[in-house]
Amino acid sequence: EPTIGVLALQGDVREHARALESAGARAVAVRRPAELERVDGLVIPGGESTTIGKLARAFDLLEPLRKRVEAGMPAYGSCAGMILLADRVEDGAAGQETIGGIDMTVRRNAFGRQVDSFEAPVGLAGMGDDPYHAVFIRAPWVERVGGGVEVLGRAESGPDVDRIVAVRQGRLMATAFHPELTDDHRVHHYFAELVRRATEEE
Ligand code: GLN
Repeated sequence: EPTIGVLALQGDVREHARALESAGARAVAVRRPAELERVDGLVIPGGESTTIGKLARAFDLLEPLRKRVEAGMPAYGSCAGMILLADRVEDGAAGQETIGGIDMTVRRNAFGRQVDSFEAPVGLAGMGDDPYHAVFIRAPWVERVGGGVEVLGRAESGPDVDRIVAVRQGRLMATAFHPELTDDHRVHHYFAELVRRATEEE
């Protein structure tokens, strides 16, 4: 089974670890470069993207994260993690740094202009027919994607219908919502499969 790290600088690390374990992966916390080297894939949890970015720089993790993502390590970011995997951020804080990797522009706190948090169904490509019951908390949305990015899902109701909220580009994926907060582990399962296939290809 693949070993999947959860970036443990801030955010709901334990919930992601639990969801990964129930998807059949081994989950470990990643706080330092040596721990990052040992994982087959990485989850970047929600929290505050500016804080996670600053802590990653302070812990000497930002460059190693960029290098591993560039070298093809599978990574999945939820909410703040989605922002960290974006090549471009709108409404970001001044000087906000990301890891990048997904050719997309995300708008930070996009839904938050109307409401802080909400739940909405999202149909997720490749993850079964039932809509996913998604929890959004001060969530970003995806404003634009480049040609190589697959849109996996859009919000089907809520304050802004039809916004892109789940994407994949090769071994990188991101959701604007928090699948670690519900018992439906399809997103973690999908990512664990992606990591499993990537380790077989290496
Ligand atoms: N609003 C947060 C940010 O900009 C993300 C919120 C979350 O991860 N729940 O980083």
